[in-house]
Amino acid sequence: MKFATKAIHAGQEPDPSTGAIMTPIFQTSTYVQAAPGKHKGFEYSRTHNPTREALESNLAALEEGKYGLCFSSGMAAEDCVAKLLKPGDEVISTNDLYGGSFRMFTKIFANYGIKFHFIPMDDPKLIAKYINKNTKLIWIETPTNPMLHIIDIKAISAIAKKHKILVAVDNTFATPYLQTPLKLGADIVTHSVTKYLGGHSDVIMGAIVCNDAALSEQLHFIQNSCGAIPSPHDCFLVLRGIKTLHIRMDRHCENAIKVCKYLQTHPKVDKVYFPGIPTHKNHKVAKEQMRGFGGMMSFTLKNNSIKQAHKVLSSFKVFSLAESLGGVESLCGHPATMTHASIPKEVREKSGVVDSLIRLSVGIEDVNDLIDDLKQALK
Ligand SMILES: *Cc1c(COP(=O)(O)O)cnc(C)c1O
Repeated sequence: MKFATKAIHAGQEPDPSTGAIMTPIFQTSTYVQAAPGKHKGFEYSRTHNPTREALESNLAALEEGKYGLCFSSGMAAEDCVAKLLKPGDEVISTNDLYGGSFRMFTKIFANYGIKFHFIPMDDPKLIAKYINKNTKLIWIETPTNPMLHIIDIKAISAIAKKHKILVAVDNTFATPYLQTPLKLGADIVTHSVTKYLGGHSDVIMGAIVCNDAALSEQLHFIQNSCGAIPSPHDCFLVLRGIKTLHIRMDRHCENAIKVCKYLQTHPKVDKVYFPGIPTHKNHKVAKEQMRGFGGMMSFTLKNNSIKQAHKVLSSFKVFSLAESLGGVESLCGHPATMTHASIPKEVREKSGVVDSLIRLSVGIEDVNDLIDDLKQALK
């Protein structure tokens, strides 16, 4: 089956008891057994729930993997992956990383004796320098947030395979519609389902997809032991959201290219960061591993000050100033004073997060309204 058909149908059968075409919300904590141990595969909803299982199969199909697991947030999914590790283990991660992932690795898991190396991953060859016998996991995020770096999943997975190191890819920005890391050699895909997959800014959820039965069992064991599961109602909302993932992503990509072209010609705009630009450092890799460039971009102003950025951000009428991304509505954010506020100025500037950097999540409104909004806000 092709992507659009899977988005609508994978994991979902008409309800056998009524014929309902939509997967019912199985809002139940427990399941009656005919005799001890004699049940239909469901015992307790922390372990299994039919609405959640429908979504998990759907996500596995979209990521071209065998096993899906859904969590109460994107961070809960990442937490589950990190719990595969033991004291003494080492992780190599990209240095332009979602702030919440960086915080969890450095403030939580570092306390349990796990060592993290944050390095630029634009050039896969650099990784070899950080690999030793303790390296157990390579954590990739691509495109990265907020600088939109592109990391070569295939090249890094090939290096990791030689050393029997697991590769996990946070596929939140691209979604399986644009990028399928398991096909490129990764072992684990994680998502903040909150973003494009849910797509309507009304659910917090996370997911993991993998292909290895033993790995999937281990992850499910951790999830069932620690308990970070999503509600059946939220699973229903995401199943509904995913039915339009492909058409939403097409429009996000289309609008983003037009917005990017507009920003590139604007006299007040300095740099535009978007993997679709031919001069982007890893544009070639993006073209090879992605089927579109997504809806996320960042740009800087020639007048590089916090004051100027704040003026632009508070002038928007269609773009809303908010954390998060990937919903149907356009959002804007200011990394220097929002997501990256806790990082010292000299450190964040080294990675490109300068005072005037503005991040856009280009939504699926009429693109002419988005461009008019940028025009009046940048006046
Ligand atoms: C939002 C986000 C997360 C965290 O997901 P939550 O659902 O907010 O817990 C992780 N990675 C990336 C890239 C994100 O954008």
